[in-house]
Amino acid sequence: MTTETSENRPFEADVSRLLHMMVHSVYSDRDVFLRELVSNAADACEKLRYEAITSPELLGGDAKLDITIAADPEAATLTIADNGIGMSRDEMIEALGTIARSGTRNFVDRIAQAEGREGAQLIGQFGVGFYSAFMVASKVEVISRRAGSDEAWQWASDGKGEFSVSPVALEQAPARGTCVVLHLTEEAKSYAERWTLERIVKEQSGHVPVPISFIEKPGE
Ligand code: ADP
Ligand code: MG
Repeated sequence: MTTETSENRPFEADVSRLLHMMVHSVYSDRDVFLRELVSNAADACEKLRYEAITSPELLGGDAKLDITIAADPEAATLTIADNGIGMSRDEMIEALGTIARSGTRNFVDRIAQAEGREGAQLIGQFGVGFYSAFMVASKVEVISRRAGSDEAWQWASDGKGEFSVSPVALEQAPARGTCVVLHLTEEAKSYAERWTLERIVKEQSGHVPVPISFIEKPGE
């Protein structure tokens, strides 16, 4: 069932705990957030590719799947966009509000037993997924339109206990897929520099089976 208005929802308790850890992390290798977001974008493209085998209409007129990383150093924002499968409102609430996946669940169970610095070190061992965005961002927005859908939705959160979900006008949404906008914290501003982003992508996402391109400033 969908609601056409904006709604605030609390994170599942374990997600709040995980986010608190991300924000206060002493973990120094924050670069991993980009690997996680790029891998989600690539997964979304692979999912669409797979679903399009039986439902080719999902590709619409755009069969070229790709990932775009756009940085705006002045605004201190970083956007990772893909034209993959996208998320419906319900998928967004499930995927970005709970700990649905087993890898993250294992991580949360492990940090429950670990303290401070030791817990932080576990971030590198487990891929902690989407929520790692909060290591570098004070606010995260996700705009998504599922392939074949005539609705688009925005998820937004400052990582402090709750998130909002609201409808987005189609003109303001990607034709298909997902756009993750990070409002970088003061300490993480260097992630809006193209050479930093290119270095990390080269180091950590070289194997990604979807082309990645860079844009200096979104909207230009
Ligand atoms: P994982 O990728 O291991 O499932 P994540 O925490 O990285 O865990 O992501 C959680 C879920 O959020 C994904 O499984 C997917 O359903 C959804 N998701 C995240 N990013 C995207 C994206 N760019 N496009 C579509 N779905 C996404
Ligand atoms: Mg992931």
